Amino acid sequence: ITKGQIMLKNDLLEQWDRENFLHPSTHLAQHARGESPARIVTGGKGCHITDRDGNRLLDAFAGLYCVNVGYGRDEIADAIAAQAKELAYYHAYVGHGTEASITLSKMVLDRAPDHMSKVYFGLSGSDANETNIKLVWYYNNIRGLPEKKKIISRWRGYHGSGLMSGSLTGLELFHKKFDLPLTQVLHTEAPYYYRRADRNQSEAEFTAYCAAELEALIEREGADTVAAFIGEPMLGTGGIVPPPAGYWEAIQPILEKHDILLIADEVITGFGRLGTMFGSTHYGIKPDIITIAKGLTSAYAPLSGSIISDKVWQVLEQGTDENGPLGHGWTYSAHPIGAAAGVANLKLLDSLNLVSNAGAMGAYFVKAMQDALGDHPHVGDVRGEGMMCAVELVEDRDNRVYFDPAKKVTYGIVADMAQVGLIGRAMPQGDIIGFAPPLCLTRPEADEIVAKTAKAIKAHFD
Ligand code: PMP
Repeated sequence: ITKGQIMLKNDLLEQWDRENFLHPSTHLAQHARGESPARIVTGGKGCHITDRDGNRLLDAFAGLYCVNVGYGRDEIADAIAAQAKELAYYHAYVGHGTEASITLSKMVLDRAPDHMSKVYFGLSGSDANETNIKLVWYYNNIRGLPEKKKIISRWRGYHGSGLMSGSLTGLELFHKKFDLPLTQVLHTEAPYYYRRADRNQSEAEFTAYCAAELEALIEREGADTVAAFIGEPMLGTGGIVPPPAGYWEAIQPILEKHDILLIADEVITGFGRLGTMFGSTHYGIKPDIITIAKGLTSAYAPLSGSIISDKVWQVLEQGTDENGPLGHGWTYSAHPIGAAAGVANLKLLDSLNLVSNAGAMGAYFVKAMQDALGDHPHVGDVRGEGMMCAVELVEDRDNRVYFDPAKKVTYGIVADMAQVGLIGRAMPQGDIIGFAPPLCLTRPEADEIVAKTAKAIKAHFD
């Protein structure tokens, strides 16, 4: 193939893309008109991807915080190929299983907090949260509490974009013009100290305020109508924000007091991203249900899960004794190819010590970013935990004045970063540049992310 033929193929691909492909989370009109760039990704190795134009980029967002073991791992690709040749598919209904799905369920439970009891497998974080809410409703129906159904989520939480999961998500873009949220969903204060606290409030005071807001909401609605609270251990898409000091310690007793289940959405934090196997252990959370996805397979194949506690399991068992089989399942639940990818992925996570690397290298990375940008007049906050980091930009740092969103400051900087081979993410709702690199990040790669980010931010404001 000559260079000319490659160019022709590339142009044709881009044309087909703009003509035929309805992209998720994309400005459809601009994309179709060719007003926004289209990147066609062709390969990946370690923390880097390559595109059809021959660019090699350091992916400091691991896809969408999901390629945790890094790109191009033969161990996982080989496991997928072997499973596809042996048995590409069989379902998991009425007690069927495969060696891969059963092995993965054991591996997940071995790594989960002790009181967790069973795992249901889905395909995406969104569908896992749909499952969770159905299980919560079923749970309260079996307990004879049919009125106890409302779900509390936080503003700026992200839990997916299905009907229920998109309702749980606390970002306006995911509700507007979609007739969401559904009426059973309520939102409470975002645990986002930098943006939401009063300037004279300490973290502890802000935590107390968040807890009081939650309790007031429960009391207003009536605890006998509230079934569950869902939260990410640390906010992800809503801004990459570690919780304020003492947050989970303050929230959990309120939920316990009112007999409200706690769902920890660990789609991002599960399997090592915070330097511990689960974010729940990191923050001392004792959830009734844990949502997992992304890091379960490092996105080599779609697979998610709902890990449920013994307390919930007991009631589900009782429910099927009284009502017959659970009326819930997907054709692709526990898909063997996803499960095979999951088994190989979790083995790699162990053999490469990636959870401890996420903790140690993540701490180095966040500190380096703080050192490089902490004093910049347009950097309001640099924060992070484990392999998650955010740089929040402001117009006026002293008076904490945000930029006019129409200026799209962050989008411009992120585009400049891409020009020099670095992928960060312009987070929705605010001028926040997010980083969530693969857990195998090395020190030179961490240094490169910091240097290129600092350079792009400084150049933008010069
Ligand atoms: N929960 C959280 C915490 C997430 O970050 C995401 C995805 N970013 C989801 C749920 C939804 O997962 P998916 O996109 O696989 O449906």
